[in-house]
Order: sequence, then structure tokens, then C-alpha cells
Amino acid sequence: MTERFARLKDDFRKIFGTNPSVVVKAPGRVELLGNHTDYNEGFVLPAAINVDVMAAGELRDDEIIAVYSANFDTKVEFPLSNVEYDTVNKWSNYPRGVIQALQDTGARLQGANIAIHGNVPIGSGLSSSAAIEMAIGFLMQTLLGFEMSGKDMALIGQRAENKFVGVNTGIMDQFVSRLGKKDHALFLDCRTLEYEHLPLNTSEVKIVVCDTMKRRGLVDSEYDLRRSQCEEASRLLGQWIPNVHALRDVSAAAFEAHKDKLPEVIRKRAEHVIYENERVLKSREVLRANDYEAFGRLFDESHNSSRDLYEVSCEELDKMVEICRKSPGAMGARLTGAGFGGCTISLVKNDFVEAFQKAVKTDYEKNTGVSPSIYVCTAEDGASVVANDT
Ligand code: ADP
Ligand code: MG
Repeated sequence: MTERFARLKDDFRKIFGTNPSVVVKAPGRVELLGNHTDYNEGFVLPAAINVDVMAAGELRDDEIIAVYSANFDTKVEFPLSNVEYDTVNKWSNYPRGVIQALQDTGARLQGANIAIHGNVPIGSGLSSSAAIEMAIGFLMQTLLGFEMSGKDMALIGQRAENKFVGVNTGIMDQFVSRLGKKDHALFLDCRTLEYEHLPLNTSEVKIVVCDTMKRRGLVDSEYDLRRSQCEEASRLLGQWIPNVHALRDVSAAAFEAHKDKLPEVIRKRAEHVIYENERVLKSREVLRANDYEAFGRLFDESHNSSRDLYEVSCEELDKMVEICRKSPGAMGARLTGAGFGGCTISLVKNDFVEAFQKAVKTDYEKNTGVSPSIYVCTAEDGASVVANDT
């Protein structure tokens, strides 16, 4: 952390010839529970983790934003008055989108020099995109000193990603990158944006992310299909159950009373979402009681449901989960994120983390011929100031 901080300051001096006045960071995240519940206006349980995008900046006297990414070793410049989509340096659309979204909500900005460096693996499902968005947004807020709640900043990031970058995502990633808390998971109601921090003592248990290395194929079309199946389920159930606007409004009891009237596939999709919401709600009691055995069981149930009912798993994810579950110290394992490839997460007893990693690596390699990337995660604070000399 101090080494990265020093390197980022060096980069800033090299590119801009001065010292940054502010340095902030915003973390990546994991989805602990709540698989495909967000667009059903349900509940999710992510945690901010120990990888982040760090951003150093200083204000300029003009109306130009200059951003250098050490990861891409490239600098872009654009005027505040005309923020355009960049088809060459595509990464810069994340900062551009955030700057534009801030201006759209009426914030009066000023030019700035910015240098960033991230150690969130890009495109692995740990949300480097939310990390860069929240790093840029929080940096501008800190440099300029304007008031903005964490929730509103998260919405700025989502707006940037949806409207400017053109990626259709929910609010979870930005929300937890901004508002996460050390040694806590974050319970979030995706409809009301009410949230609560729940204790997750990561000196006792670690969240271990195992990347299957399978590139996520089919995600977009299957994602859209699942969304429309959920809408259909909610429409059908709404004929028999009052006040159903989304699957979030269907209780398990009401679902059980009416599920036999649903077409098979629609029933399976609804059953996953309704019981996944129940699991996220249950995790609140479980974590308040520090009951990690029960928390791990929720991971297992969640995966089985994503695999059998929502059908968003794949051979590689199922194999990885099977291997993780029988490796030393494992208390539960599940796929995380959209599915069809990408990563699993396991809850692992702290003392077994080394042995767990070794076993998973060996076993997965033996079974698939592919060497997985493994990240041992702790739960960390959301966006924070690293240094402020203003
Ligand atoms: P994920 O969020 O799962 O890591 P995404 O495709 O949503 O993957 O977002 C990754 C994109 O975010 C990168 O391709 C890049 O455009 C941008 N990005 C993330 N981190 C950085 C960084 N440190 N510097 C520049 N761009 C970054
Ligand atoms: Mg992303």
C-alpha cells in the first residue's frame, strides 16, 4: 500500500511535474450472496475487499481534465464543456462518464490532473469498473469539497456505467465500493437502497475467490433472457398475489401456494430468486451471531440454486465449487457474479487458507489442465482518503 502510494506519486510527478494534493482509493468487491436478485428489486450482500484503484489529483486553473492510468500507461485530456466518448482509449470512458454524470446532477467542477493505479484484476468479476468510478468521483469530491452522500455518489457511478460507458449494471458494485466497511459485509435493499453493515471478521474467516479462467460467454443474451423470465414470473404471480411489482414482492409462502400454476422454466427462475432473497435476509441474523458454519451453508445452497434452478453455472464453475468444498478449511462455496464462467467464492477458516489454496490449485489443474488465479480477500472500508495536503 505505501509502496503503491509512493509509486503513484512518482508517476504523478513524472506526468504532471507537480505533487498531487489529494490521494484517495476505492476498493473492488465480492458478491457474497444475492445472485441475480438485484434486477428483481431484491437484496444483495457484497463486501468491499483488499484490492483497489488509487487516484491522485490536483486542481487546475482551467477547464481541462487530464487522466493518466498507470495500468494502461496512457494519458487522456478532455474539456469539461464537451465530454465525449473515447473509442481509442476505452478505459477513459469510466472517468469521463463519472465527470459527465457529476456535471449532469449540477455539480460545478473545475479542471484537474489525475493519475490512477489499480490492483483490482480487470474483468475478473471483482469490479475494477466500480473501483475506478468511485475513485474518480471521490477524488473530485475531496478536491472540490462539495457535499454528496455515499448513496448519491454510488448512483453517479452507476449512471456513468449505464449511460456513458453503455454497460447495463445494477447499483451493488458502486454502492459497496463507496460505502463498504472494514470487517463487515454490506446488506443492501436494491429497491429502497437502505443498507446495513454486518460483522464479518476476516481475521477468523477469509473470502477466497477462485477464478475458473473460463471467459464468460453467452452472458449478455442469457442475462436478458433471465430478466424477461423473471418479469414474466412476476406478472403471472401478480394475477394471484396482491401488490407484486417484482419478484421481490413474492414471499416464499405465497410462492409455494401458487407455483404449480407456473410453466416449468418460469417456476424454476422464480424459485431461485425468491429463496435467494430469503437467504440474503437470513444472512443478517447469521452474521450478527457470527455463525460462520451457517453462513457457509448459505453459500452452498445459493450455488445449488444458481446451478439447478437459475441455470447460470457451467462445467468449470461446478468443478471449481466441488473442489473448493472438499479442500481444507472450506465452510461453503458458490459461484459469484453473472455466471457462465468467471469466479467462485469460498468461505475458508483463516488457519487453513494456505492449505486451501494449494489444494484447489493442484486439484483444479489436474481436472482441467488450467491454472486458476486465486485471491484471498478481507473485508475493507469503502472509498477513503489516503492523503490530503489541501
Ligand atoms: P470488472 O469490473 O469485472 O473488472 P469491467 O469490464 O466491468 O470488468 O471493467 C473493466 C474496465 O474498467 C477495464 O477494461 C478498464 O476500461 C476500466 N478500468 C478498471 N481499472 C482500471 C485502471 N486501473 N485504469 C484504467 N481503467 C481501468
Ligand atoms: Mg464491472
